[in-house]
Amino acid sequence: MSADPNCIFCKIVAGQIPCKKVYEDEELLGFHDIHPWAPVHILLIPKQHIANLYDAQAEHNALFGRMLGLAPRLMRELGVENGFRTLINTGADGMQEVYHLHMHVMGGPRPWSKG
Ligand code: AMP
Ligand code: ZN
Repeated sequence: MSADPNCIFCKIVAGQIPCKKVYEDEELLGFHDIHPWAPVHILLIPKQHIANLYDAQAEHNALFGRMLGLAPRLMRELGVENGFRTLINTGADGMQEVYHLHMHVMGGPRPWSKG
Protein backbone atom coordinates (compact mmCIF):
# COMPACT_ATOMS: atom_id res chain seq x y z
CA MET A 1 0.00 0.00 0.00
CA SER A 2 1.40 3.42 -0.93
CA ALA A 3 2.57 5.64 1.93
CA ASP A 4 4.45 8.95 2.13
CA PRO A 5 7.03 8.96 4.96
CA ASN A 6 6.55 12.72 5.49
CA CYS A 7 2.75 12.57 5.66
CA ILE A 8 1.16 12.99 9.09
CA PHE A 9 -1.89 10.88 8.20
CA CYS A 10 0.30 8.06 6.82
CA LYS A 11 2.07 8.17 10.20
CA ILE A 12 -1.31 7.83 11.94
CA VAL A 13 -2.16 4.86 9.69
CA ALA A 14 1.21 3.29 10.59
CA GLY A 15 0.61 3.83 14.32
CA GLN A 16 3.59 6.19 14.62
CA ILE A 17 1.33 9.07 15.73
CA PRO A 18 -1.62 8.35 18.04
CA CYS A 19 -5.23 9.06 17.16
CA LYS A 20 -8.64 8.64 18.78
CA LYS A 21 -9.84 5.91 16.46
CA VAL A 22 -13.53 5.49 15.69
CA TYR A 23 -13.32 3.07 12.75
CA GLU A 24 -10.83 0.84 10.96
CA ASP A 25 -10.94 -1.73 8.20
CA GLU A 26 -8.46 -2.90 5.56
CA GLU A 27 -8.86 0.23 3.43
CA LEU A 28 -10.14 3.00 5.69
CA LEU A 29 -9.42 4.66 9.02
CA GLY A 30 -11.66 7.05 10.97
CA PHE A 31 -10.55 9.16 13.92
CA HIS A 32 -11.51 12.29 15.83
CA ASP A 33 -10.20 15.60 14.47
CA ILE A 34 -7.67 17.13 16.85
CA HIS A 35 -9.29 20.61 16.49
CA PRO A 36 -13.01 19.85 16.26
CA TRP A 37 -15.42 22.38 14.72
CA ALA A 38 -18.45 20.55 16.04
CA PRO A 39 -19.37 18.40 19.06
CA VAL A 40 -18.55 15.37 16.91
CA HIS A 41 -15.91 15.92 14.21
CA ILE A 42 -14.21 12.93 12.67
CA LEU A 43 -11.93 12.43 9.69
CA LEU A 44 -12.31 9.43 7.39
CA ILE A 45 -9.22 8.61 5.35
CA PRO A 46 -8.10 5.94 2.91
CA LYS A 47 -5.13 4.07 4.37
CA GLN A 48 -3.26 4.40 1.10
CA HIS A 49 -1.67 7.80 0.45
CA ILE A 50 -3.74 9.78 -2.03
CA ALA A 51 -2.87 13.49 -1.75
CA ASN A 52 -6.29 14.82 -2.68
CA LEU A 53 -9.14 14.53 -5.17
CA TYR A 54 -6.94 15.81 -8.00
CA ASP A 55 -4.90 12.62 -7.60
CA ALA A 56 -7.91 10.35 -7.40
CA GLN A 57 -8.39 7.81 -10.18
CA ALA A 58 -11.45 5.95 -11.37
CA GLU A 59 -10.13 2.88 -9.51
CA HIS A 60 -10.71 4.78 -6.24
CA ASN A 61 -14.40 5.39 -6.87
CA ALA A 62 -15.55 2.40 -4.84
CA LEU A 63 -13.34 3.50 -1.95
CA PHE A 64 -14.90 6.97 -1.93
CA GLY A 65 -18.34 5.40 -2.10
CA ARG A 66 -17.51 3.37 0.99
CA MET A 67 -16.31 6.53 2.79
CA LEU A 68 -19.63 8.24 2.10
CA GLY A 69 -21.59 5.16 3.10
CA LEU A 70 -19.76 4.92 6.42
CA ALA A 71 -20.47 8.54 7.39
CA PRO A 72 -24.11 8.08 8.53
CA ARG A 73 -23.30 4.80 10.26
CA LEU A 74 -20.45 6.33 12.29
CA MET A 75 -22.44 9.47 13.10
CA ARG A 76 -25.27 7.30 14.47
CA GLU A 77 -22.79 5.26 16.49
CA LEU A 78 -21.43 8.51 17.94
CA GLY A 79 -24.92 9.69 18.90
CA VAL A 80 -25.50 12.14 16.03
CA GLU A 81 -29.13 11.76 14.97
CA ASN A 82 -30.03 15.27 13.80
CA GLY A 83 -27.83 15.74 10.73
CA PHE A 84 -24.20 16.20 9.87
CA ARG A 85 -21.90 17.83 7.32
CA THR A 86 -19.38 16.12 5.05
CA LEU A 87 -16.48 18.13 3.62
CA ILE A 88 -13.46 17.34 1.46
CA ASN A 89 -11.01 20.21 1.00
CA THR A 90 -8.85 20.07 -2.12
CA GLY A 91 -5.76 22.18 -2.84
CA ALA A 92 -4.73 25.67 -1.76
CA ASP A 93 -7.93 27.51 -2.65
CA GLY A 94 -9.88 24.61 -1.17
CA MET A 95 -8.12 25.35 2.16
CA GLN A 96 -6.52 21.89 2.29
CA GLU A 97 -3.93 21.74 5.10
CA VAL A 98 -3.09 18.04 5.21
CA TYR A 99 -2.23 16.57 1.81
CA HIS A 100 -3.60 13.08 2.46
CA LEU A 101 -7.16 12.84 1.23
CA HIS A 102 -9.68 13.01 4.08
CA MET A 103 -13.37 13.56 4.51
CA HIS A 104 -14.51 15.65 7.47
CA VAL A 105 -17.75 14.42 9.01
CA MET A 106 -19.19 16.86 11.54
CA GLY A 107 -22.34 16.75 13.61
CA GLY A 108 -23.93 17.27 17.00
CA PRO A 109 -26.04 20.03 18.48
CA ARG A 110 -25.36 23.64 17.45
CA PRO A 111 -23.80 26.11 17.99
CA TRP A 112 -20.52 24.82 16.52
CA SER A 113 -17.19 26.61 16.92
CA LYS A 114 -16.85 26.74 13.10
CA GLY A 115 -18.69 25.60 9.98
P1 AMP B 1 -7.90 20.20 5.94
O1 AMP B 1 -7.90 21.69 6.02
O2 AMP B 1 -9.15 19.66 5.31
O3 AMP B 1 -6.64 19.65 5.31
O4 AMP B 1 -7.99 19.70 7.43
C1 AMP B 1 -7.00 18.98 8.10
C2 AMP B 1 -7.60 18.59 9.42
O5 AMP B 1 -6.74 17.68 10.05
C3 AMP B 1 -7.80 19.76 10.39
O6 AMP B 1 -9.18 19.83 10.76
C4 AMP B 1 -6.91 19.39 11.57
O7 AMP B 1 -7.45 19.76 12.81
C5 AMP B 1 -6.78 17.90 11.43
N1 AMP B 1 -5.58 17.30 12.00
C6 AMP B 1 -4.31 17.67 11.78
N2 AMP B 1 -3.45 16.87 12.45
C7 AMP B 1 -4.22 15.97 13.11
C8 AMP B 1 -3.93 14.89 13.99
N3 AMP B 1 -2.67 14.55 14.33
N4 AMP B 1 -4.98 14.18 14.50
C9 AMP B 1 -6.24 14.49 14.17
N5 AMP B 1 -6.58 15.50 13.34
C10 AMP B 1 -5.59 16.23 12.83
ZN1 ZN C 1 -0.41 10.09 3.58
